[in-house]
Amino acid sequence: MVEEAAVAVVPVAAVIDLTAAQELSAFAAEVSVCTRCALAQGRTQVVFGSGSPTADLMFVGEAPGFHEDKQGIPFVGAAGQLLGKLLAGIGMTREEVFVANVLKCRPPGNRDPQPDEIEACESHLFRQIELIQPKVVATLGNFATKLLSGKPLGITRVHGHEQEVTLGGSRVLLYPIFHPAAALYTPRMLDVLQTDFARLPELLGRRLAPAVPPPVPVRPAERYVAPEPVQLGLF
Ligand code: URA
Repeated sequence: MVEEAAVAVVPVAAVIDLTAAQELSAFAAEVSVCTRCALAQGRTQVVFGSGSPTADLMFVGEAPGFHEDKQGIPFVGAAGQLLGKLLAGIGMTREEVFVANVLKCRPPGNRDPQPDEIEACESHLFRQIELIQPKVVATLGNFATKLLSGKPLGITRVHGHEQEVTLGGSRVLLYPIFHPAAALYTPRMLDVLQTDFARLPELLGRRLAPAVPPPVPVRPAERYVAPEPVQLGLF
C-alpha cells in the first residue's frame, strides 16, 4: 500500500500575507543602500518605514529627524508620540498601519526636503504604496500632500478633504492631514487633527471603484490612415 504523504494546509490569506511581507522587506533591503541623492552621505541609516506590510491605512510624513535617523524607524520623536495618541483615539495602533516618509534619509539639521531630493526618492514611496496597497493614504503636512496629490495646494486649504486617486496602480483615498508636529507648536491644532483623524474609520470602510487601466497605446500600423485622394483623370 502506498502511504499518503502528509500535506500541510496553509490558509491562502497567510500565504498572501507572507509574500507581501517578504516583498516589502526585500524592497527595504534594496533601498537601504540607496545613493540617489547627497543625503546618503550624512545619514546614519535609511529610514524605510514601519508597520504592517498589508496595512489598509498608510501615513506619509516628511523626512526622518534626529531620532528617526538614529533608530531607523519613522516618527519615534515627539511628533511620533502624538501620532500614536491620535491613532489610539480612533482605536488603532502603529502596528496595524504603515508609516513612511517622502524622504527616506534625514536632511541635515532637519531642513526642508529639496526638490531634487524629493525627485530622487519619490519612486521608493510609490513602490511602497504599490506593494502595501493601502485603502487610505493619509498625507501628513505639505510635502507629502503636494507630492501625492500632484497639486500645489497647501495643507491649510486641503486638510480633511479626501479624494480618490490612482497611486501605485491602485485606487486609494488620499486624505491630507496636518503634520502632528504642527500641534506641538500650536496647541489648538490638536482639535483640528483630532477632528480629521475621527473621519479615518469611515474612510477605511468606503468602497472604491477598481483602477481604470491606462489607455492601451495604439501602434502606428493600427492607426487609421486616410487613403490618398485619388486624382481623377481629366481625359
Ligand atoms: N517628522 C516626519 O515627517 N517624519 C518622521 O519620521 C519624523 C518626524
